[in-house]
Amino acid sequence: MNKQIKNIAVLTSGGDAPGMNAAIRAVVRTGIYNGLNVFGVIQGYQGLITNNIKPMDARSVSNILHLGGTILKTARCLEFKTEEGMAKAYQHVKENNIDALVTIGGDGTFTGAKIFSERYGINVIGIPGTIDNDLAGSDFTLGYDTAINTVLDAVDKIRDTADAHDRLFFIEVMGRNSGCIALRSAIASGAEVVLLPEQETTIDDLIKKLELGASTKKSSSIVIVSEGHKKGGAFEMARQVNERFKHYDTKVTILGHLQRGGSPSSFDRILGSRLGFAAVNALIAGETEKMAGLIGNEVKLTSIHDAITTQINKLEPDLLEMTEVLSI
Ligand code: ATP
Repeated sequence: MNKQIKNIAVLTSGGDAPGMNAAIRAVVRTGIYNGLNVFGVIQGYQGLITNNIKPMDARSVSNILHLGGTILKTARCLEFKTEEGMAKAYQHVKENNIDALVTIGGDGTFTGAKIFSERYGINVIGIPGTIDNDLAGSDFTLGYDTAINTVLDAVDKIRDTADAHDRLFFIEVMGRNSGCIALRSAIASGAEVVLLPEQETTIDDLIKKLELGASTKKSSSIVIVSEGHKKGGAFEMARQVNERFKHYDTKVTILGHLQRGGSPSSFDRILGSRLGFAAVNALIAGETEKMAGLIGNEVKLTSIHDAITTQINKLEPDLLEMTEVLSI
């Protein structure tokens, strides 16, 4: 028998990602449309522990679709990982009569949600919000598309100066152990080489590719380095190339946190809206411990267990092969 859901709460946790606000808006409005009371938890699990929980209405999510970050704030909350912290969180969930939660975040957020649900019988649905695109159960995670566009904007500008000076630029992008951002931004920016955590590229391989470009009169070269590629990242790769080829005029740019911010792309706004809508409908249907994700342009539910434990390599083999060809 499904538990009757009357009051739900939504929170964002872990790293912020563009598109989270679209998901929050969709959760609030889908909940209200269906006659539910919706609460917003400020600062992720920290807000459950401190009882920073606010009622939301349809107007409290007006004019947020275009905003980066998250209006609910986010946090990495160590206390929630402890039994006492989780018990305090549950106390406040009970006091506010909250029956179910929508948690927007990455694998850590889902791990916490799963334990909380199992321990206290609170229904939870997750929405994958991370620029890294490193979760199973969704072809794309919220913020990933916007992050690529942000990288492109920066690489296009760097290309201008690289070209003017015949320079070799190493540009480091985010993604942790996933090369998704690096691969797509390399294709879309026309980078000469992309260095990925999932693929071994030696200095010799790299130099061979650069020399090929030089022999066919390329006036600039861009190497996109995924932050998880190797210890030392872009600086280390540039150092090693320069050690052997002093004639390269080498520069390094680490794009860093600017990749997390900015107005979400249309793709992320629509994805956030679809997943938020689906998450509330799933809770109403009595689902729990599932993640709403996009698989082949359809919104599907995957168990949180599978989403966080399935080993995945989301690099599309055809894109990998194409990069080799198009960068000659
Ligand atoms: P991102 O991908 O952006 O890092 P994330 O959700 O993986 O997002 P984490 O910092 O790993 O980010 O996790 C977010 C929060 O989830 C943690 O700060 C903590 O409050 C909670 N959490 C993570 N792991 C656990 C766990 N094992 N038990 C309980 N709570 C957890």
